[in-house]
Amino acid sequence: MSIEVKNVFKYYGEQAALNDVSFKINSGEIIGFLGPNGAGKSTMMKIITCFIPKSAGEVKVCGINVDEDSIEVRRKVGYLPEHNPLYLDMYVKEYLDFTAGIYKIKNKKQRVNEMVSLVGLDKEQNKKIGALSKGYRQRVGLAQAIIHDPEVLILDEPTSGLDPNQLVDIRQLIINIGKTKTVMLSTHIMQEVEAICDRVIIIKDGKIVADDTTGHMQHKDEKNLTIFVEFDQAATRNQLRQITNVKNVKSLDDNKWLFEANSDIRAEIAKYAQKNNLLVLTMRIEEKSMEDVFKELTRG
Ligand code: ADP
Ligand code: MG
Repeated sequence: MSIEVKNVFKYYGEQAALNDVSFKINSGEIIGFLGPNGAGKSTMMKIITCFIPKSAGEVKVCGINVDEDSIEVRRKVGYLPEHNPLYLDMYVKEYLDFTAGIYKIKNKKQRVNEMVSLVGLDKEQNKKIGALSKGYRQRVGLAQAIIHDPEVLILDEPTSGLDPNQLVDIRQLIINIGKTKTVMLSTHIMQEVEAICDRVIIIKDGKIVADDTTGHMQHKDEKNLTIFVEFDQAATRNQLRQITNVKNVKSLDDNKWLFEANSDIRAEIAKYAQKNNLLVLTMRIEEKSMEDVFKELTRG
């Protein structure tokens, strides 16, 4: 087990930012940590990385309790904080060399060069960090996070504020790095979760409201289905509404329809079509987007 969080509470003064949070992340998983602003994502990540203490509960990273050996935990964890605070006056390699020094890495120079090429900073390596675009600054942030070859990577909104091209590049970089590490990443971007993550943990008001695979979450709500159907010829709404258990019918065009139902009514649709000499060319249950799942779980 890479990360174990058990009954964790965090209070800032009177306010509970984390309220009895528990989850586990297996080694090698890439987990999306989702939640609206202020839900407690950064707080949870800072606790796992030993940057702030929790108020109660237990946190273990690679089996090591953060209360017992925070130095060893920090060795196991790479962390890219929100807003990626960097020394803008430092040169890229100077900064990475400085980071390598903190971790007492042997063969510093070689390791820095490895990082530069791993994260694609070759062309920018002689610049000051302040002169880099946001996308390249994120590469520097990722390089400092993995320079000590941690088993676990904690990335707090690593793609926020990037333009669409930078976003794709950084995502790909995370996928590549994630092949050999456990990754927990927070984000607001739902496509990111669909693109990168195996599993999603959703937090709201300091409480976990969902923890499941992305595929499961998108299918879960079996009482609220949308079914896409394409017929070989035009049908009418009034006709289609007669199908047993249909809640609502929406037309995409005369041949293509979306059925809403509280159960899987594909068999009823097929029977109806047969009776009325309609041919079903396509029929499928529509997957919900992660965005819909997120809205349903965090609204209100
Ligand atoms: P997220 O990262 O999901 O946006 P945070 O973990 O940053 O959420 O914040 C969770 C809650 O804790 C918010 O209500 C926030 O205002 C509060 N909070 C975070 N940091 C502090 C702090 N240093 N002092 C007081 N309140 C804080
Ligand atoms: Mg945050």
